[in-house]
Amino acid sequence: MKITHEVKREACGIFGMCNPKHDVVGNIYYGLMSLQHRGQEAAGISTIKNGKILTRRVWGLVSQNLKSKLWRFSGHIGIGHVRYSTTGTSTLANAQPMTDNVFAFAHNGNLADYVRVRRNLEHNGFRLKANSDAEVMLKLLRSNYEKHGSYVEAFKALSRQVEGGYSIVMLTKNRELIAARDPLGLRPLCQGRTGGSTAFASESVALDSNSITLVGDVKPGSVIVATEDTRKEWQYVSCRRRAHCMFEYVYFSRVDSILEGRSVYDVRFNLGINLAKTYDTKPDVVIPVPDTSRTAAEGYSSYTGVPVAEGLIKNRYIHRTFIMPRQKDREAAMKLKINPLKSVVTGKEVLIIDDSIVRGTTSRAIVNMVRNAGAKKVHMMSTCPPIISPCFYGIDIATYSELIAAKMDIESIRTKIEADSLGYQTLAGLIKGIGLPKEDLCLGCLRGEYPTPYAQRILNTIKENTKPSKNRLWEAELSA
Ligand code: AMP
Repeated sequence: MKITHEVKREACGIFGMCNPKHDVVGNIYYGLMSLQHRGQEAAGISTIKNGKILTRRVWGLVSQNLKSKLWRFSGHIGIGHVRYSTTGTSTLANAQPMTDNVFAFAHNGNLADYVRVRRNLEHNGFRLKANSDAEVMLKLLRSNYEKHGSYVEAFKALSRQVEGGYSIVMLTKNRELIAARDPLGLRPLCQGRTGGSTAFASESVALDSNSITLVGDVKPGSVIVATEDTRKEWQYVSCRRRAHCMFEYVYFSRVDSILEGRSVYDVRFNLGINLAKTYDTKPDVVIPVPDTSRTAAEGYSSYTGVPVAEGLIKNRYIHRTFIMPRQKDREAAMKLKINPLKSVVTGKEVLIIDDSIVRGTTSRAIVNMVRNAGAKKVHMMSTCPPIISPCFYGIDIATYSELIAAKMDIESIRTKIEADSLGYQTLAGLIKGIGLPKEDLCLGCLRGEYPTPYAQRILNTIKENTKPSKNRLWEAELSA
């Protein structure tokens, strides 16, 4: 099968639960609803009933398409998945959970060396139907398990066969719920327990909505196997370092989640304070770009005393302008998505805070909107430092050639987005705001230095390549 360039990336949300006394299908549904921000393209659920793995995968939102006749999936062990869309064609064959009737598998993350791994598998006679990391990991895990007869050995072998970020929940025909995390802990995965039940989720909000107590994170490089009566945990590989994704704190996770013991709300508040400490801009009002930047604007306001106002109103029914394939479409969609409030901005010196500037499309559109609505001056700040390099581990940022800060210095970006001033978070400010040691964070997209060798090789190849790439799988293929 030809590997199309429109392969889907795996930026998603996962949930898994095992309860000896009660049906978990409702819990999985609520868990996925709470993780909906991590993926709106497709959703899926797998449970075990009468010794059989049952799976449903649907397009669209959990509340709209997954709900009907969900009782058919009732069972004591189950997993669920929400999927994030990027450019290109979509097919339900790539949706998750993926199942081979022995395992049902759902993951969040991305393999940096997917192209290489896939080619090796095909070379060794594996037949692949989809175009996704999940499929190749499922095949590898199954074959590793059959060979070694142990989950620990299966994951240990997997960690030698693939490189990248992967948080996994899995269901087995033997009525086991398995959770595992890659050796660097690139993508989040937390665990909760209440009574005799165990749950795993990409973010703690999915435990909250189920009234399950958060007990902490699944340790990087570890695997947990839970059944209705037992729970066992192993470190399948010892970890030299951690590399938690900083962008989970900046943008991706919900503000009411707790990752690695750090509240996302506190981090974003700190990032706003750090911006206030770094720049001596004196605005009349600070306006967040909804919704992610609200907390940072609150932090900025608390430190400076500058009032924060909802000067940009978001149409809550428009999603995903960021991931529309064409720049022209993204620009048009911005106008539909966000509208400035004249009464808040007219005649004022306005500071707009956004969580990040990726391609610069959003900033430029918003600066112009606010100026046209009557602002005297428009300043822009980003809670994230300049993004200069792609992500190979599961955040859909952009291709190298699209990243505005990969090509331009800050003054040129300011001119391009037509702001009166532009202030980025410093790297030190970001690390301090998150509050984890620098060595425990993945800062690949900010520094172009990755915690795994293959990702570094891809970047170097892209940089040497004079033809700008239009998508990231193609970038990966260059170095495969
Ligand atoms: P851009 O127009 O490309 O500079 O996009 C920046 C905007 O997109 C910011 O407002 C971010 O909140 C948002 N954003 C950043 N990363 C992502 C992502 N991975 N998916 C969706 N939106 C994002």
